[in-house]
Amino acid sequence: MTTATAWGEDHFVAGNLALDFANTVYRRWPEPGADLFTGPDTFAAWLARAGLLPESPRGSATEAALAEARTLRALLWTVFDAHREGRTIPADAFAGLLDTARRSVTDLTVHADGSARPRGPRGALAVVALNGVALALDPPPQGVRACDRCGWFFIDSSRGRRRRWCSMKTCGNQAKAARYRSSRP
Ligand SMILES: [Zn+2]
Repeated sequence: MTTATAWGEDHFVAGNLALDFANTVYRRWPEPGADLFTGPDTFAAWLARAGLLPESPRGSATEAALAEARTLRALLWTVFDAHREGRTIPADAFAGLLDTARRSVTDLTVHADGSARPRGPRGALAVVALNGVALALDPPPQGVRACDRCGWFFIDSSRGRRRRWCSMKTCGNQAKAARYRSSRP
C-alpha cells in the first residue's frame, strides 16, 4: 500500500500554479521520479489544497483523470526545462498543454472577470494547463529556475535573486547539513 501524501505549504513553493503542479514529482532527490500523486485521492486532495476545487471527497478523481494529470505534468517539465535552458519550447509539448485545456473546457466556467472555476478534476487540469501556457508566453524577467537538490521548479522573487533551493526549510537545510558533513574529516 502506498502512503497518501499530506499536502502542506512546503509543496507550494514555486510561486506559480503550473510549476507547483509540476513539482508533485521529484527529478533528482530524494528519489528520481518519486511521485507524490500516489493515487486518485492524493491527486484530488492536491487540487483542493491548491484552491482549484472546493473539496475532495474520496473518489472525486478517477484513475483516468490521474493518468491525464501525470501526462500534463510531463508536458510541463518538457516546456519549462526548455525555457530554463534557453531553448525553443518544443511545439508538441506546447500543443499538448493546449490540447489538455481544449479537451477539458466543458468542465470549466470562465467568468467575466477572468476567473476560471473548474467543476471537476478535468476542469482543474485545464486551469493548470492554461497557467502553463500563460507562463511560457509571458515568463518573469528572472525566468523559471530549478532547485539544485530536488529539481523542483520555482520563480525566484527574492531580492538578490540568489535563491538556489525550492525551500530553505527542506532542500536548503539538507544541502547545508551535507556540506557540513563533507567538510569534517
Ligand atoms: Zn528542492
